[in-house]
Amino acid sequence: MTIAIYAGSFDPITNGHLDIIKRASALFDKLIVGIYDRPRKSLLFTIDERVNLAKEAVKHMKHVQIISYSGLTVEFAKKVGASVMVRGLRMSSDFEGEFEMAMMNKKLSPNLELVCFMTSLQYQFLSSSLLKEVSQLGGCLEGMVPEHVAVALTNKFA
Ligand code: ADP
Repeated sequence: MTIAIYAGSFDPITNGHLDIIKRASALFDKLIVGIYDRPRKSLLFTIDERVNLAKEAVKHMKHVQIISYSGLTVEFAKKVGASVMVRGLRMSSDFEGEFEMAMMNKKLSPNLELVCFMTSLQYQFLSSSLLKEVSQLGGCLEGMVPEHVAVALTNKFA
């Protein structure tokens, strides 16, 4: 049984993330979406809010589990028995950072394999930070996030 993790801050989960989750969950026996509790960036949603938004978004998906974690992602992977780490790659801008992180993770945990999914064309320019800005300025988020996430964003900025 191959278990994969897809880790990130998911502040909040977007349709770009969900596209990767759907595609990855079709390849592995189990996909664990790890929500990092304290990333080095300012967050809009609390860890409980991010977990609940993600849980609601994947509730119809079999083999997908949402778990929050703290500390090193490779340690989280070990703890849940994952042998694969999934990442999503947008255009060239993600590549350098992802490459650097992949090298470090390989050093820390040589047996954990990295599988990167190229982002689908319609989500190439979608990022949680950009959509938070658009939402704050009253822009329409149609097609970018699930309905319940759009509502949560609107409530945050109300
Ligand atoms: P992090 O804080 O690790 O960047 P994110 O929640 O921003 O966490 O992203 C988690 C993962 O999802 C990363 O691999 C990121 O590249 C990927 N990702 C983010 N946005 C998209 C998108 N629009 N399409 C596909 N993958 C994405």
